[in-house]
Amino acid sequence: MREISHVIVGDAGVSPRTGEVFDPNSGQVQARVALGDRALLDRAVAAAEAAQPAWAATNPQRRARVMFRFKELVEANMDELARLLSSEHGKVIADAKGDIQRGLEVIEFCCGIPHALKGEYSQGAGPGIDVYSMRLPLGIGAGITPFNFPAMIPMWMFGPAIACGNAFILKPSERDPSVPVRLAELMREAGLPEGVLQVVHGDKEMVDAILDHPAIAAVSFVGSSDIAHYVYRRGVDAGKRVQAMGGAKNHGIVMPDADMDQVVKDLTGAAYGSAGERCMALPVVVPVGEATADRLREALLPAIAALRIGVSTDADAHYGPVVNAAHKARVEQWIQTGVDEGAELVVDGRGFTLQGHEQGFFIGPSLFDHVTPEMQSYKEEIFGPVLQIVRAPDFETALRLPSAHQYGNGVAIFTRNGHAAREFAARVNVGMVGINVPIPVPVAYHSFGGWKRSAFGDTNQHGMEGVRFWTRIKTVTQRWPDGSPDGGNAFVIPTMG
Ligand code: NAD
Repeated sequence: MREISHVIVGDAGVSPRTGEVFDPNSGQVQARVALGDRALLDRAVAAAEAAQPAWAATNPQRRARVMFRFKELVEANMDELARLLSSEHGKVIADAKGDIQRGLEVIEFCCGIPHALKGEYSQGAGPGIDVYSMRLPLGIGAGITPFNFPAMIPMWMFGPAIACGNAFILKPSERDPSVPVRLAELMREAGLPEGVLQVVHGDKEMVDAILDHPAIAAVSFVGSSDIAHYVYRRGVDAGKRVQAMGGAKNHGIVMPDADMDQVVKDLTGAAYGSAGERCMALPVVVPVGEATADRLREALLPAIAALRIGVSTDADAHYGPVVNAAHKARVEQWIQTGVDEGAELVVDGRGFTLQGHEQGFFIGPSLFDHVTPEMQSYKEEIFGPVLQIVRAPDFETALRLPSAHQYGNGVAIFTRNGHAAREFAARVNVGMVGINVPIPVPVAYHSFGGWKRSAFGDTNQHGMEGVRFWTRIKTVTQRWPDGSPDGGNAFVIPTMG
């Protein structure tokens, strides 16, 4: 049995606790991951404390060169990384490559870190007085990541944190921990000094140890909302800077004038791709008007019937299994809840088995119609291959649905009407908006972050927001007197009056 160990300075030793890592295609345990504790974290923190000052003192161009080399190494190892990712997560290989590539695009942004870190300067803010601000690293940062993007989300975090001069400790999801380990190894190979990036595996015990550790200055978290909120509260209570991204329930609004063929293609990909295990998936579609709803439903049915579910290495499969048996059971339970609440289950994906892979964690695509905002299955995140149709009589009702929902990660509108789109983007109470774009994940040099229960804290991931999160500002007010006496009164606060 393969053992997955921590990546820390020195020997990680043997962990008394381990977790099972499944192959979702076969349903079998394929590896065991060490689950660390506070003592292990203390060792990682000590190594990070030893390494960080020299790394922060390394000029930013040299730090950026490590990012350039890392990017080349990841590209050279893309096939191996994608296979590994797919074998633990279950997403198809092409999608696994997308997961890695979207993370690499953040690394590309980090290659320009010298420019992003330039400070501000005001010459002559007062007589003989200049003011300048610099962005300095925080010291040691930590990242706690979810299972569904085991490459992209770690890179969202460790790329900017390290480029800014911090040491970083990553606690990846214990469900698919191998790719984060490989990424840390490749960073070492790219020339990152020992101790600047370490990986500690674990569950709640390790998360709590990170949140309580006095030497860790900042924590970035991505995962489900209840845990995000908990991480935010506990981390802030311990005096840390915390950003904590949570769950989602993204809506796609379909206006009567939308290009229905395109909508169906976009929706099936965004609702069922990666078996719905994306925080930017589109699990709710809101057609405006009964006629639009009927046309959409009719067009969706053959598209759903044509979906091919297969093992994650099947190049023709649209999506693979979900991550584990517990998650499969949870998704199927939500489908039952929808039925019990009175929604119309038009396509039932339960009971799907893939020949030769009967123990794999596969779920067929499901479609609900006549879902209403009062239903629990509408209010909560399902995170599986389940699409819900919520019919809206008009634009204002459609706008209100995502705006009033507890989650506010992403939303999309499909229309040919520029005025409606513009109005929607301006007024909707959601953090990321797509206009005829089903999955509006911003490019790396913009930033990622939802609203409401989709994010706690006030700073987004990556782009300049990432640089701001992983640095703090020091502002210097300087005066170089010429020696002549000045008559200022030292007892009154200096003003520019
Ligand atoms: P999760 O909340 O179960 O786990 C996330 C991390 O928290 C993992 O590292 C896990 O080890 C740790 N954890 C789990 N239970 C804990 C506990 N009780 N106390 C402390 N830490 C704990 O999330 P997941 O199932 O791995 O990922 C899916 C969730 O992540 C979905 O809700 C999805 O919407 C969300 N997500 C959000 C974004 C975003 O940017 N908003 C992106 C990706 C995923």
